[in-house]
Amino acid sequence: MSTFLWESIAFGPIHSRRLGSSLGINLLPTDVKICSFNCIYCECGWTLEKSLTAREYYPVETVMQAIEHKLQEALAEGKAVDSITFSGNGEPTLHPHFDQIIEQLLGLRDKYYPNAVISCLSNATQLLRPEVCSALKKIENPILKLDAGTQEMLNIINDPTVPVNIDEVVHELTTFEGNVIIQTMFLSGEKDGVAFDNSTEPNLSAWLAKIELIRPRKVMIYSLDREAPATKLHKFSKEKLEEIAELVRKMNITVETY
Ligand code: SF4
Repeated sequence: MSTFLWESIAFGPIHSRRLGSSLGINLLPTDVKICSFNCIYCECGWTLEKSLTAREYYPVETVMQAIEHKLQEALAEGKAVDSITFSGNGEPTLHPHFDQIIEQLLGLRDKYYPNAVISCLSNATQLLRPEVCSALKKIENPILKLDAGTQEMLNIINDPTVPVNIDEVVHELTTFEGNVIIQTMFLSGEKDGVAFDNSTEPNLSAWLAKIELIRPRKVMIYSLDREAPATKLHKFSKEKLEEIAELVRKMNITVETY
């Protein structure tokens, strides 16, 4: 597959289906994806590096200068910014100073685009680091991944590169007291010769039970959209996603399909 990596710390604003005009932030290198997951569907390709040494991450000052420059540029060009969004080449919360970056970004947002929200697309594996969890609670849109209802399905779809216990992650997600958005990729396929489908039992009921525990502000459900590193994967139709969404709506939780 052709892997896709962002080439700078700050990019855009680009149009996002979910977030409108989104100014992106990539805290990771531009030549390799760094992630605590190795998702079979990742548009950045397989995870070849699971972490960097602390000194290899961009210094906070470098990150903040790049973001401020991009915000100034967008403002000078009269561009709308609805969301300042952490996404990029892997898992943003792996940055050892993620909390400091959030703290300083809140000030930059208020200075340049006070009506913009701050969003973070994260795989939730770092929530057990208290400073990451509390930083994510300070932003408007913590959009956290939960693709599986069981540890077995998480291991198949997300293939963690660090120890990840699904029940511990879900427990941390409950501490957001509803001010969190859960994003879930539904798909089926084959991995290492074993067929899987996270929309069927027992995964689906287990996932719904975890959504009920977390009671997020919103659930975002989607299926494959771009080229994936694994080849034997199947995308679900919008109708199929809507069937799952209906089960979430019955719990009085807002849900959107993409
Ligand atoms: S968590 Fe995101 S960046 Fe990491 S492997 Fe999965 S899809 Fe890719």
